[in-house]
Amino acid sequence: MVIDFHTHSGASFDKSSLKEIREKIGRNGVKKAVIFPSTQESYQKLMQKNLENLENSGDFFIPFLRFDPRRIGYEELESLQKRFYGFKLHPRGENFDPLDKSLARIFEVIEKTSKPVIIHSRKENNQNTDPDRIIELANLYPKINFVFAHFANDSDAFFSRLRKLENAYVDTSIVSSPFIIERRVREITSKRIIFGSDHPFSDQEIELLKVKKANISKEEKEDILYKNAEKLIKSSLL
Ligand SMILES: [Zn+2]
Repeated sequence: MVIDFHTHSGASFDKSSLKEIREKIGRNGVKKAVIFPSTQESYQKLMQKNLENLENSGDFFIPFLRFDPRRIGYEELESLQKRFYGFKLHPRGENFDPLDKSLARIFEVIEKTSKPVIIHSRKENNQNTDPDRIIELANLYPKINFVFAHFANDSDAFFSRLRKLENAYVDTSIVSSPFIIERRVREITSKRIIFGSDHPFSDQEIELLKVKKANISKEEKEDILYKNAEKLIKSSLL
């Protein structure tokens, strides 16, 4: 069983429909995939893409709501969230500081839903996406489960803070390798690591191989490949 916690629809270079994406990633043995839109040229288009994902998700895709927290209304978020299993935040794509105090009410709405948040995190000359900084979110909102994408850039400072928090996770996309996965499993256990491919920005088969080739136990691989994801998504349905 494999759940991919990080896939995109609507990338500018990839015109595949959800049906075509499903066919493609289904060939890698993936049974379910969290899906959210890629960056769009406008907020309206982004929200439209979210609704298209919702309509076409079938029983394979698990739609997450990607939004700009500075533009969405509280009531809009409260009503929309009912139809999604979680949230995707991209502080570079939508250009906001996730620690901006004016966003507190948005995070309070999210907190009440018990649904997970996957957040883009990379070291990329942009403090808004710096995992060592934005892990503070998990400290500020202990009831929200945050999945820091791209292995939180595999930063030592990040992982030493993650150990002290119960609501912070990383996904394996892009910034990982079998060696990095082995090393961090020993450090923080397999319970905080979740398989994500970042399809179509990375090749899902290659991303899966990193977990499969890591020298960790079968049980640890199962945690990473689907058990942790199932737990986070189920808690979102409570
Ligand atoms: Zn992504």
